[in-house]
Amino acid sequence: MAIDFRSDTVTRPTPPMLRAMMEAEVGDDVFGEDPSINRLESMAAGLFGMEAALYCPSGTMSNQIGIKCHTQPGDEVICEKSSHVYIYEGGGIAFNSGSQVRAVEGDRGRITAEQVMASINPDDVHRARTSLVCLENTCNRGGGSCYDAAQIEEIRMVCLQNGLRLHLDGARLFNALVARNEDAPWYGRTFDSISVCLNKGLGCPIGSILMGTAAYIRQARRVRKVFGGGMRQAGFMAAAGIYALQHNLSRLAEDHLHAKQIAAALENKPFVSRIMPVETNIVIADIDASHDPKQIAAALRDKGILVIAISPTQIRFVTHLDISPEMVGTAIRVIEKL
Ligand SMILES: *Cc1c(COP(=O)(O)O)cnc(C)c1O
Repeated sequence: MAIDFRSDTVTRPTPPMLRAMMEAEVGDDVFGEDPSINRLESMAAGLFGMEAALYCPSGTMSNQIGIKCHTQPGDEVICEKSSHVYIYEGGGIAFNSGSQVRAVEGDRGRITAEQVMASINPDDVHRARTSLVCLENTCNRGGGSCYDAAQIEEIRMVCLQNGLRLHLDGARLFNALVARNEDAPWYGRTFDSISVCLNKGLGCPIGSILMGTAAYIRQARRVRKVFGGGMRQAGFMAAAGIYALQHNLSRLAEDHLHAKQIAAALENKPFVSRIMPVETNIVIADIDASHDPKQIAAALRDKGILVIAISPTQIRFVTHLDISPEMVGTAIRVIEKL
């Protein structure tokens, strides 16, 4: 069996998670009658101290619903230029919200309050109305980098002073919470809306959660139906989410340790020119000009190690629930011999 570092989305439900799914109490969630979904939504809202939550089939959908409920067609959304909402959601901001993006070049995916300030359009009929800032934490293309809370707080102040809403793409927010020993309710107080993924580090087969005020989530529930994301007895899936929130949060530290161990092995390789600082469960290595990342990925695949060449100059390893310490050991030995 290959050892799969391509993404933290490749995990299979563990036997206890599957048992929780099999035993789930379910109902029709479009009628609001699925007890497992209702429970998952109130657990998540409670964890972040937010008023309400909405279970969605994917993180793309929860981000897109989130953005739709903060914007009007013709608005402008400020985000970092490598952010998922901008480059990996199929042009969804334009398609779903009729809004355009002001893409800002950040530091490993993170932008500053000064950059946000400088990107706000003046109140002028020629200009798009700036209405929303989207941050990502951890930053996927930033190699799993985390924001400093102080930096987020400054961005929050700029948003408050300029009438902008603040959305968090927290697909891997739990990784940041564990890595930085941060407090979930602080995030709930700081952002107008937060999307978190259950299908990444938490090991669920499906699911994301959008959180915000009760009024915002009422609107989001309407938009989810329009987007075709109103599911019926999806409590079988929500039960996996409940199980994950109860059991799979603190173990993320293990994924972070594994990522650091892999980075240490890569550091010694002549074909690696630089490794992005490893803060969570993602390792992005720059490959020197005399090697092709696709060939390195192929050489690793021949030895049973799956990774992705994420750009013409980079390979990426992601650690997750289905990677054991033994598998990390095997991967390190393969890297050493490469
Ligand atoms: C994975 C991911 C998402 C959502 O992905 P889905 O596959 O649609 O669940 C959103 N943002 C970031 C940063 C991600 O890594």
